[in-house]
Amino acid sequence: MVLTSAVNADGGGADEESKPRRRRRKRRGRGQRKKNSPEEILASLYVRRWAFPDAPLNDADGDDPVRPAGKMVFEFHSHSTCSDGFLSPTALVERAHARGVNVLALTDHDTMAGVAEAVEAANKFGIRIIPGVEISAVYSPREESETEEPVHILAYYGSCGPSRFEALEKVLSSIRDGRYLRAEEMVFKLSKLNLPLKLDVVAKIAGNGVAPGRVHVACAMVESGYVQNLKQAFSRYLHDGGPAYAKGTEPFAEDVVRLICHTGGVAALAHPWALKNPVGVIRSLKDSGLHAIEVYRSDGKLSGFSDLADRYELVKIGGSDYHGRSGQDEPDLGSVAIPVLDVYEFLIKAQPAWRVAMQDMLSAMADEPSDINLQKIRASFLGNQEPEDPELDAIRVKLSGTELCNRKKCS
Ligand SMILES: [Zn+2]
Ligand SMILES: [Zn+2]
Repeated sequence: MVLTSAVNADGGGADEESKPRRRRRKRRGRGQRKKNSPEEILASLYVRRWAFPDAPLNDADGDDPVRPAGKMVFEFHSHSTCSDGFLSPTALVERAHARGVNVLALTDHDTMAGVAEAVEAANKFGIRIIPGVEISAVYSPREESETEEPVHILAYYGSCGPSRFEALEKVLSSIRDGRYLRAEEMVFKLSKLNLPLKLDVVAKIAGNGVAPGRVHVACAMVESGYVQNLKQAFSRYLHDGGPAYAKGTEPFAEDVVRLICHTGGVAALAHPWALKNPVGVIRSLKDSGLHAIEVYRSDGKLSGFSDLADRYELVKIGGSDYHGRSGQDEPDLGSVAIPVLDVYEFLIKAQPAWRVAMQDMLSAMADEPSDINLQKIRASFLGNQEPEDPELDAIRVKLSGTELCNRKKCS
């Protein structure tokens, strides 16, 4: 559980916390802006066209017909009350809007239950949602020198979501079920440490239908006065290998990456700095199809993972891992800047996968246009994806007899 993203469409970063950037800015002096390379300008045009297909590309002042106006902020990693976040999907989107975020990936732990609500809220603000999920997994060591450790894999899907939702949901629901057992074990271990908690209190804190996680146990500990805050609950009892830590029943990380690829998603390794053996994990996951890795973060720990990303040809992304823990020191939504060239690389990698997923879904539904499938299509088209894709046009023609949707909505 660690942390976040923002891209500045003029090629610079949006993160004022990034020390190297701040130093570079100082050297440039006040009022001077870094000159964008032609690659950065083209990349920002591409990214902006993807995010806002209907928006004019001209500069806001009208003095530059090529440069897109203003900066764009991407947030690739965030949580809501559908897992262990403290804001509802709607409140999360409202905060993202207030923070200037243009594209928000909702990546709750082991569930996509909040995506539909986030999309609805985002429509009001013109924010684009990337449907996502952060999947809990475990890395099983290949060599004697390595140890088993938990790994979080982020999955990013196109606007239609996963192409084989049932296969994904089957895995996610078994992970969520395992969380109840895990919470039970943590509560048992705490009782042995003379820190008794009631499991139903933990479940109540998690909320109706939300699989309890460590943070919910930590909240119950704060409420009972055993620790002063969540941080203390983790550092004293609940950290990996801690006295009240319990393992879940997570799938192998390699299988999760393959599942994400199979369901038309982009797989990214979350917070590699939390791993004991990042090189072994990255090497193994790359062999399974990993696309990207979180590299950018607000505390400046970048270079080591950036080198690993280069070595294994992984797209570099980052995000705040925002949970909305009030009073806690955590990076806010949109606080981690991602260079526009990296966002461009992400989209170049993502769009073919998303397009294939959409084709798979549409083909299946066109072959079997049942009421349920029609409803699914209506529900899943969240925006423009590939406005001029001839293969999708062919499927649209097939579907046109069913009057599913107009071209604008379904592209
Ligand atoms: Zn995580
Ligand atoms: Zn997270």
